[in-house]
Amino acid sequence: MAENARTVIIGLDGVPFGMLKKFAQTGVMPNTSRIIQQAFLTPMRSSIPEISSVAWSSIITGTNPADHGIFGFVDLHPDSYRMKFPNFNNLKSPPFWNLAKGESVIINVPSTYPVKDMNGVHISGFVSIDINKSVHPTFLIPELESMEYRLDVSAEKAHSDLGMFLEDLDPTLTARIKAIEYLWDYIEWQSFMPTFTGTDRLMHFLFDAYEDENHKYHNDFLDHFRRIDTAIGDIYSKLTENDVLIMLSDHGFEKLEKDVYVNHLLASEGFLTFKPGTDPKLDNIDSPTKAFALDPARIYINRKGKYPEGSVEAGDIQACIKDLEDLFASLQIYGRKVFKYIYKKEDIYAGPYLDDGPDMVLIADEGFNLKGAMSAKELVGKGPFTGKHTYEDAFLLINKKDIASGLGDQPSVIDAGKLIKSLVG
Ligand SMILES: [Zn+2]
Repeated sequence: MAENARTVIIGLDGVPFGMLKKFAQTGVMPNTSRIIQQAFLTPMRSSIPEISSVAWSSIITGTNPADHGIFGFVDLHPDSYRMKFPNFNNLKSPPFWNLAKGESVIINVPSTYPVKDMNGVHISGFVSIDINKSVHPTFLIPELESMEYRLDVSAEKAHSDLGMFLEDLDPTLTARIKAIEYLWDYIEWQSFMPTFTGTDRLMHFLFDAYEDENHKYHNDFLDHFRRIDTAIGDIYSKLTENDVLIMLSDHGFEKLEKDVYVNHLLASEGFLTFKPGTDPKLDNIDSPTKAFALDPARIYINRKGKYPEGSVEAGDIQACIKDLEDLFASLQIYGRKVFKYIYKKEDIYAGPYLDDGPDMVLIADEGFNLKGAMSAKELVGKGPFTGKHTYEDAFLLINKKDIASGLGDQPSVIDAGKLIKSLVG
């Protein structure tokens, strides 16, 4: 790579390979189309599980969850059933910008809150709570506020009123683009990573509007991508010949047909019980329990010595996992199998934090959305979401084909992260 080459990484949260290609081909994303013609483009595997906190942590570190320590959006305090929300302080592997030779500008990457001291500018993404802990250096906050910068859209609005959600999405994107433009010239950066996350929210709430051309919000859906494409075109026009451009998503998306409650399955098959007279929740797990799940479908064996009500002896763990595999493999709803992949931890994770991970992780088959809520009264349900994450069709685009040559057939977010690390390090 040339000495003065810079690396630009544009994140598009949740955008599936197929949608990107379709929007490039149908004129919704003409700039992206132009870039694709010169670039390497491939479907990419997400993390396991296929959720943003885990996937982006893999992208920015180039490591798997047993190395970076982020296994889900929620996790358990050690040796307990108490829930915690891991954040950037819990990331055990360094993000690429800590290894970079030069300065970095990092904007809106999920799971990077609270920000820390680093060489450059960092504005954290979902879930960022307090603006004072979301911007490094903090003296940039007034400038961002003058742009009406917003850390995120209000998902609460979407739950009550989709029109209001769309009205919120637009100024959030406008301010994000302003910040990107401002920071582009603010320092002499070596790596620049803006991430668009409204795409994920849009697809959760309005995947039906994408698929149905007659949907009231179909054009609003396309407009959001048109506006992002304009911002991509603007960035592309400012690249020099030596600069590397990577565009990627952290997972894909598809239509959500049914929610499936994994803990309901475990309870109805006798693997999970709650103390008599108590509500079905983590704190109330009773000692006959053999396994329980955390979102979206991480399965934990209720090991003796590890959990307060742990009952499965070390020698019985493999038999328990085998029973669970049989149960999961046999589950069908509407005559279709629910789980596409049933992974054991040794098959998917390796590293110093392996013990903190789930014993198994399930990936759903088409249309099924797996959930770890314990209070569900039925195995199958349907909430307000119309779209769900997918594992195998995130995308990865690289403007220089020679750089992509070492990636192999089915690259994952970890491979993308390794590549980024090698480019900036
Ligand atoms: Zn999402």
